[in-house]
Amino acid sequence: MESVGIVRKVDKLGRITLAKEDRKILGINGLDPVEMVREGEEIIIKKYNKDSCCTICSKKIEGDKSLKVEKKIICLDCVSKIERISEK
Ligand SMILES: [Zn+2]
Repeated sequence: MESVGIVRKVDKLGRITLAKEDRKILGINGLDPVEMVREGEEIIIKKYNKDSCCTICSKKIEGDKSLKVEKKIICLDCVSKIERISEK
């Protein structure tokens, strides 16, 4: 992890502003979704990658626990639900 050496104050509503240079480097534009992950005492902010989330339930997919159908990624839980529905 690269430290960018920037200290920002959190405003009264808990908001922070991402540095313009960091947004440019990461390709984050205004109104783009970002993902925040808390790890212990750290909060990591990542550019949201919808390709790593299930098309149906939006759950983040870890590793290869997914199925790709027509360029859409589906988690195995949703695949199981679809299988159960189709068996009825
Ligand atoms: Zn799913």
